[in-house]
Amino acid sequence: MDALTQIERSYAVAEQVGPLVRRVLARNPSPFTYTGTQTYIVGAGRDVAVIDPGPNEAEHLDALVEAIGDATLAAILCTHTHRDHSPAAGPLAARTDAPVIGCAPLTLEDDGPRADAAFDPDYRPHRVLEDGEIVSGDGWTLAAVATPGHTSNHLCFALPETGALFTGDHVMGWSTSVVSPPDGDMTAYMASLAKLYAREQDTVYFPAHGPAVEKPRQLVRGMIGHRRSREKQILRQIEAGRHGIADMVPHMYKGVDQRLWPAAGRSVLAHLIDLEKRGVVAHSEDRWLLSA
Ligand SMILES: [Zn+2]
Repeated sequence: MDALTQIERSYAVAEQVGPLVRRVLARNPSPFTYTGTQTYIVGAGRDVAVIDPGPNEAEHLDALVEAIGDATLAAILCTHTHRDHSPAAGPLAARTDAPVIGCAPLTLEDDGPRADAAFDPDYRPHRVLEDGEIVSGDGWTLAAVATPGHTSNHLCFALPETGALFTGDHVMGWSTSVVSPPDGDMTAYMASLAKLYAREQDTVYFPAHGPAVEKPRQLVRGMIGHRRSREKQILRQIEAGRHGIADMVPHMYKGVDQRLWPAAGRSVLAHLIDLEKRGVVAHSEDRWLLSA
């Protein structure tokens, strides 16, 4: 069986991926979602929790309801409100009577929503978790770990019973996270990476996309290094006379699928904003210059 067939067979079925943790893969593969969104079901007793219910698609919802079976669904948790994560929350709540508990809806500002088309405007939580707050059930506890950066409302969820951390889109093994301003914030993202690096109690990460990460702190340390080298690369682009993001991206992301270049440009912008806050660069219009 080749890898693609294997993935095809994984849609819409619950698979045990660790103690207390099952996974249902949604059929929404793309360059941004890898094989699709992974919804996790936590708990093996009277009640369970669902993390990142995913896109609102009948096949996926049916698979979740079947996997929950006779257990009570105690909570529907969302790491953040991108369209591949939270739209099934409302429909799943309607089918199961479970409360939606988790990240905040995105903040609206005077000039409109901070977020772009990737954001789910219909997300309505019954309860918002702050950093460190917990939801618990029969044999499981989930603690919110606030990790803004990919989005301003992003939460990871720790399962102390097993040492698992559900990382949403904050840290994934298959790809770096997209950080797209204005809601995406590189300064916050780097602080959230440092926060995870300090958590020695987490022994496995379950991201929303891609395989589980077995040596998570090693990966996080590598990601911090990767972002630092991107930053240096951007400074070299400016030194080489490329002052606009559109001029920098083809040089910086030569080997990368060109469909991802617009997102890469957003990440470069996020780095430039972070560098500007630190006084390293300045800009006028879309020309970026090194600060004197
Ligand atoms: Zn996302």
